[in-house]
Amino acid sequence: MNRPSRPDTGADKTPDRRVRMLTKTTGQTDMNFKKTLLAAALTLSAGLAMAADLPQVAILATGGTIAGTAASATQTTGYKAGDLAIQTLIDAVPQIKDYATVTGEQIVKISSNNLTDQVLLTLAKRCNELLADPKVSGIVITHGTDTLEETAFFLNLTVKSKKPVVVIGAMRPATAISADGPMNLLNAVKLAADPKAQDRGVLVALNDQISSGRDVTKSNTTNVATFKSPDLGYLGYIAGGKNYFLRNPAMRHTHQSEFDVSKLDKLPRVDILYTHASDDRVLADAAIAAGAKGIVHAGSGNGSVHGQTEPALAEAVQKGIAVVLSSRTGSGVVCPNEEQYNKAGFIEGRTLNPQKARLLLQLALTKTNDPKEIARMFEEY
Ligand code: ASP
Repeated sequence: MNRPSRPDTGADKTPDRRVRMLTKTTGQTDMNFKKTLLAAALTLSAGLAMAADLPQVAILATGGTIAGTAASATQTTGYKAGDLAIQTLIDAVPQIKDYATVTGEQIVKISSNNLTDQVLLTLAKRCNELLADPKVSGIVITHGTDTLEETAFFLNLTVKSKKPVVVIGAMRPATAISADGPMNLLNAVKLAADPKAQDRGVLVALNDQISSGRDVTKSNTTNVATFKSPDLGYLGYIAGGKNYFLRNPAMRHTHQSEFDVSKLDKLPRVDILYTHASDDRVLADAAIAAGAKGIVHAGSGNGSVHGQTEPALAEAVQKGIAVVLSSRTGSGVVCPNEEQYNKAGFIEGRTLNPQKARLLLQLALTKTNDPKEIARMFEEY
């Protein structure tokens, strides 16, 4: 819901403090004092009622550049990511109070290149706990941009709710000139509180653009307009302080998902192998030796595998390891390619990039080892 900004009603001042301020008005008649007290009480209760009316949004913080600090306002690289606590980020955007009542929770304080499966599981479980509370309208997750797409997609597969979950970050640290974090945070809180954002899967909202957590990827190392959904485009946009939606995700997500992480404390090991000229079986053998239950192959073109690596992947399938073919191209669909890939039992990763294919394969392996079933999941999610 986009609400107009309201004048300060004093609702955020404690009743005790308001009364102390009033009793300082010495020299008034008793009647005047009573009138003043009554007016103040009405204002205060109206303010409190308005605050109680506002949607409740939970903010879960994980670190990243949005919480990053640098030595100077012009430093935009080489800063300390994840330095500031969530309450500091919230306090820096007092306008949030006009749209929602927020709570802040620090889950971890990391630069997201250090994201782990444990953090993903913790976030998914916490989102599900919070969203089960009828008082909570939605969730915002502050995150580093490096692996933001992985968290957004994982939650898109594991959050059991239609309520909005919005994952955001920033490309410039909080201390920079034109830091993008504060506006991204305000936009995200408004989006998480917006009934129009419900049942669209997990959302990513940076730079006034609303993307699907399934489709979006970080496409540029340093630019603020880094989040893109190749071939698909945005779900919507934010303009003039309002949210506009253009389309809905077509793939299964959130409450439609068959995956349940509530009893999981770890995920199966899945490694990604990235092909290149003169690729050979060394990395595939290393993944097998490390105990991988699945391998995602970031192939060339339509998921092609180097002839020197292919026998190792075929052997992996024979050993019961699921092998998914993805592509290093950055867009397009991996669909049936060489006849022998089918015979070897490789699974097509469809439109998921390698890092997202890894997450779906991990969740798939919590349910089945059957390549046909896993192939179905890659068609549906
Ligand atoms: N390295 C940072 C991180 O992912 C980059 C960012 O947040 O933009 O945490």
